[in-house]
Amino acid sequence: MTAFSQLSGTIAERIHCIRQTLPDSVRLIAVTKQVSVAAMREAYAAGVRDFAENRVQEAEVKQVQLHDLTDVTWHLIGHLQSNKVQKALDCFQWIHSIDDLKLAQRLNHLAAQRSQKLQALLQVKLLPDPNKYGWSAADLLRDLSALSHCENLSIQGLMTILPYGLAAADATVAFQKTAELANTIRQQNLPHLQMQALSMGMSNDYALAVQSGATMIRLGRILFGDRQA
Ligand SMILES: *Cc1c(COP(=O)(O)O)cnc(C)c1O
Repeated sequence: MTAFSQLSGTIAERIHCIRQTLPDSVRLIAVTKQVSVAAMREAYAAGVRDFAENRVQEAEVKQVQLHDLTDVTWHLIGHLQSNKVQKALDCFQWIHSIDDLKLAQRLNHLAAQRSQKLQALLQVKLLPDPNKYGWSAADLLRDLSALSHCENLSIQGLMTILPYGLAAADATVAFQKTAELANTIRQQNLPHLQMQALSMGMSNDYALAVQSGATMIRLGRILFGDRQA
């Protein structure tokens, strides 16, 4: 994995630099796990309005400290345990990490009770990776009709995380396959499955992801530096 311990410039300068390379249609999401609220305020001042966390509890604490930033959208990108679903609905407008049908149905059920509509992405895993959650393509196609009954989920598209250390060519293939899967699903025209969004690309592979059609990129270390292991 590339190290990001010696980044140059301020957080704002890094954000501006990266923005310049992105088409307007790509949403830059700042991944703020283990990042201080002071650094998050710097990102906000530089125009970032999307923060992503991988743990519900960390987001809860930060949202109290950042309650004055009322126009921020919060994204959950980490695996969600079923006992945290209610809290996740309190904290996040978007959940990228819906990784199986049971979780989707539970989120839908609780969102309905709260008369809430959740922006949802389905996490897929198109390459074998023991460390990552997500649907295989075949399993997702099997579950589509059940997902289309989740009326309180506005399923915007797919999210993927590639295994670490892939060669650029292999990463590109995996991103393209994810985009193709989204296309295949979109052509089925199922209710509640928009499939326009592709959340893919992190600090070390976002440029490849954008070339393959990413509409949301999730950047942590390239903005804020390396995290504690
Ligand atoms: C941590 C994380 C990121 C950001 O990774 P960086 O390498 O720091 O850019 C993106 N997506 C998910 C799901 C993550 O957990």
